Amino acid sequence: MKATLFFTFIKDVHVYAPEDLGRQNILFLDNKIIAMGSALTPPTNLSTEIIDGSGKILVPGFIDSHVHLIGGGGEGGFATRTPEVNLSSITTSGVTTVVGCLGTDGVTRHVESLLAKARGLEDEGITAYIYTGSYEIPTPTITGSVRKDIILIDKVIGAGEIALSDHRSSQSARSEYRSLIAEARVGGMLSGKAGIVDMHVGDGKDGLKYLSIIAAKSELPKRQVLPTHINRNEALFLEGIAWAKAGGVIDITSGVRPKEGSSKAVKPSTAVKRALEEGVPLDAITMSSDGNGSVPRFDEKGITIGVGVATQKSMLEEVIDMIVEEKISITSAVSIVTKNVADILKLHTKGRIKEGMDADLLMLDEQTFELTDVFARGKHMVKDKKPIVFGTFEHN
Ligand code: ZN
Repeated sequence: MKATLFFTFIKDVHVYAPEDLGRQNILFLDNKIIAMGSALTPPTNLSTEIIDGSGKILVPGFIDSHVHLIGGGGEGGFATRTPEVNLSSITTSGVTTVVGCLGTDGVTRHVESLLAKARGLEDEGITAYIYTGSYEIPTPTITGSVRKDIILIDKVIGAGEIALSDHRSSQSARSEYRSLIAEARVGGMLSGKAGIVDMHVGDGKDGLKYLSIIAAKSELPKRQVLPTHINRNEALFLEGIAWAKAGGVIDITSGVRPKEGSSKAVKPSTAVKRALEEGVPLDAITMSSDGNGSVPRFDEKGITIGVGVATQKSMLEEVIDMIVEEKISITSAVSIVTKNVADILKLHTKGRIKEGMDADLLMLDEQTFELTDVFARGKHMVKDKKPIVFGTFEHN
């Protein structure tokens, strides 16, 4: 792609970095934030796009750590395989970094295709990583091993989504989960990556039991695993609170909520509020969308009775609900989808508004929190609530 350097200057905007920095002016050159200050002025004699941030807040671009970039699902037969994600549906959800995963189907969907999709999204302007693997153990990889994929392939930052306590999992022995976590951990160590295992936790009665035993009986740190869908039912949610209070991290799925057919789910914004009230440290909570995954509905016998597609929009909606309905501070609510995720995934240039960080920024209305503008790696992707950059095959 042709590289053109450009300056962008946002003036008079209330910055949540995610900590509250008050009114600031901010300058970015191409894809990096290079200066910020309340008295900062735009460069003279250089072409600079100047954007008025008055009446707006500026927060880091959201990091969505669990998106079915090439689709997922299929549990109701081939016609229920969900479609690929489009660039503008990601950006208009306030997301500037995604981590792609497969899902139940690691046979007709491949880690290689997921890698290609991530590279395509990068070419289109956002930042994209992937997990190697799918629900089952042994899990599919590109090189033949989780450890090698993480070490050798730049975009692979961990393994996932591996299914646990779910009727769709491979029902593997506890020792196999332990080995897989160890593989990912060493792969991460040798390549300077997170080597995280994104663990899909189902409705099964064992919940987080395997993870608790592995943590107690091995040298593997709790934070090597990111158990997700923790809010899918009350019992699992309570286990998640205990796990996080004991040093683990929990990932709440914004797309799993009662209004979208998950009747047993704890509403994501409420789950965050309750976890904080129970004494879970703020940095132990993350949120992801499960975007473009299927939302299959099963009856008591595990028979599929319907299927929907999860939207990435739910994350922004739940962040706004955290602030407006649950009275969680903007800093805390935003941390859950930015800084916290960057830290657990070891994405060192993401998740914070600071000099030297990537210019991944969202501008929202200060009163309504409506998303008005999105910058991804410095590029203006959404302007005045409308996407202005589209994926290659989007027709608008
Ligand atoms: Zn899942």
